[in-house]
Amino acid sequence: MIAVHNMSKLYGEFVALDRLNFDVQRGEKIVVLGPSGSGKSTLIRTFNRIEPHDSGSIIIDGKIINEKTSLTELRCMVGMVFQNYNLFPHLSVLDNCTLAPQLVRNVARKDAQEMAHNFLKQVGIPEQAHKYPIQLSGGQQQRVAIARALCMQPEVMLFDEPTAALDPEAITGVVSIMDTLAEQGITTLCVTHEMAFSRRIADKIVFMDQGRILEITPPEQFFTAPQTERAQNFLNQMI
Ligand code: ATP
Ligand code: MG
Repeated sequence: MIAVHNMSKLYGEFVALDRLNFDVQRGEKIVVLGPSGSGKSTLIRTFNRIEPHDSGSIIIDGKIINEKTSLTELRCMVGMVFQNYNLFPHLSVLDNCTLAPQLVRNVARKDAQEMAHNFLKQVGIPEQAHKYPIQLSGGQQQRVAIARALCMQPEVMLFDEPTAALDPEAITGVVSIMDTLAEQGITTLCVTHEMAFSRRIADKIVFMDQGRILEITPPEQFFTAPQTERAQNFLNQMI
């Protein structure tokens, strides 16, 4: 589904991502872990070209992602949910969800609304459609952000610390949404600092440090027997 080969990203002289290689299968849930500044956010942002990479290749669903890629097409294929939700404050929940599908995918208003209602139901907040973001709790806003991304019917979903602002109950809600996405074959990449959360959702852990991938392992192995000393130290600090 996603193939990354020798991919690098620089900010001026600074190497933020250093010749990364990895593959993601369709429907897999990948959790990216690593210390602050290791390049986690930068990595997932290269997949929708919020941060263009400088060398090497990224292929998503057979399509090469580079300067020739249509951003409209790419953003339809790859959805993103941010830590701070980024909802449009002046739009209702329903309008937040239906704006992009109408503008970008040319979906008719009625169809976009029907789809939005379905996804709001799926993320557990069907009754909030006519409220404004400010009237919702953090967990509810995060669910709207997920529903809004799903309304674009992406094949890949990127999450950057989706649970950072949530209480434990809301985190459980997000975990079950991610499970549902995987069942539907949506490929998920998630950056988080929550070890328990990543253990629950990950098929594979990608561990980064200083712009490099040091380990790609199943969570059982990563949390019990990490291969590198750097990962061992990282886990020791977390506990
Ligand atoms: P955190 O866990 O704190 O969110 P991260 O692993 O997501 O960290 P990134 O945000 O990907 O880290 O940043 C990786 C490195 O790139 C950091 O050293 C950061 O300072 C640098 N960096 C990020 N964005 C920019 C930018 N726009 N310009 C210059 N340097 C940047
Ligand atoms: Mg980050």
